[in-house]
Amino acid sequence: MRSTYFTPGPAELYPSVERHFREAFEQQIGSISHRSQRFRDLYQFADAQLRQLLQVPDYSAILFTSSANEIWERLLMNTVEEVSFHLVNGAFSEKLRDFSTQLGLRPITFQKPLGEGFFEQEIQLPAEVELLACTANETATGVQMRPEDIHALKRRYPQTLVTVDMVSSAPYPDLDLSLVDSAYFSVQKSFGMPAGLGVWIVSPTLLEKSKKIQAQTRSVGTYHSLPVLWKNYEKFETPETPNVLFIYVLGKVAEDMNRLGIKTIRQETEQKAKMLYDFLEETEGFAPAVKEIAHRSQTVVVADVPAPAPLLEKAKKQGLIIGSGYGAGKASQLRIANFPAVSQAQVAQLIEVLRTGI
Ligand SMILES: *Cc1c(COP(=O)(O)O)cnc(C)c1O
Repeated sequence: MRSTYFTPGPAELYPSVERHFREAFEQQIGSISHRSQRFRDLYQFADAQLRQLLQVPDYSAILFTSSANEIWERLLMNTVEEVSFHLVNGAFSEKLRDFSTQLGLRPITFQKPLGEGFFEQEIQLPAEVELLACTANETATGVQMRPEDIHALKRRYPQTLVTVDMVSSAPYPDLDLSLVDSAYFSVQKSFGMPAGLGVWIVSPTLLEKSKKIQAQTRSVGTYHSLPVLWKNYEKFETPETPNVLFIYVLGKVAEDMNRLGIKTIRQETEQKAKMLYDFLEETEGFAPAVKEIAHRSQTVVVADVPAPAPLLEKAKKQGLIIGSGYGAGKASQLRIANFPAVSQAQVAQLIEVLRTGI
């Protein structure tokens, strides 16, 4: 039996992914040179499709790395001389902060308890902050940060670089990429591909900062330093031999999403999320883990339940794989990914299985 994965990454694959991989093999994409025109065309295609889907400004670059973890490290090495500022409310936002410490920088943390999020008004940045790190969707806790709060922060602190982690939310958030300086995701979550590629959208302000650090202070890295990545990007190439197959498939998936339309994707995401949250609110033994409605993630729905294990097991028997709670949430939570790859009918089926109890 084929299962449906409601896990928040790796996740259910976008329906067309398998066909695109098959076609990639038929076209022998796995054997082409990454210094060939064919590769440059394929990078350019993925670039154009992502640009359309996410409304990326002309002046920004779209760079490829191995993962979001890699982007975290590049980001800190290339844009922070000393002080980064982190909105921490779960394992992923925390890990980026920890990277900053490990790299010998001085991170400042504004922390919220698990299950809580951030409103723009409560955030004050000290003058020395160079980079503000926001997480559009904290996957560990199912807490979102609304684009309007991120936009307001950038407007209040125009001199501070603002970066947004969109790993488990892109392309859902209606984020204005002409306002933020950096946004990134890896493909195995809301984009519905297998793991193995990070996508980093970078404005020239980051490149300038990186060049300044490189000239005045220290190394900003080697083959994946921002200046090297950017120089290669200008030819639609990468410094290393990249994951060509995935760049091809990503372009095709982004094209499929564009055909469906970002408006439709957002509407469908919100409809499915509403079905899930309504169910959690109305059903005895279930409750949304995030109490503040404005901070309830539309892409990863976290439920408080008395005993997760039997529910996970029951759903699994029906071919529905749900995520367990993250870290401390393992004993009392379920995480349900509501990514574009799962249909309204599949969400309805999951709700029915959960409703009928154990
Ligand atoms: C999964 C995740 C990451 C890490 O992604 P990798 O591809 O494993 O590096 C970072 N941020 C968030 C919000 C995530 O959900």
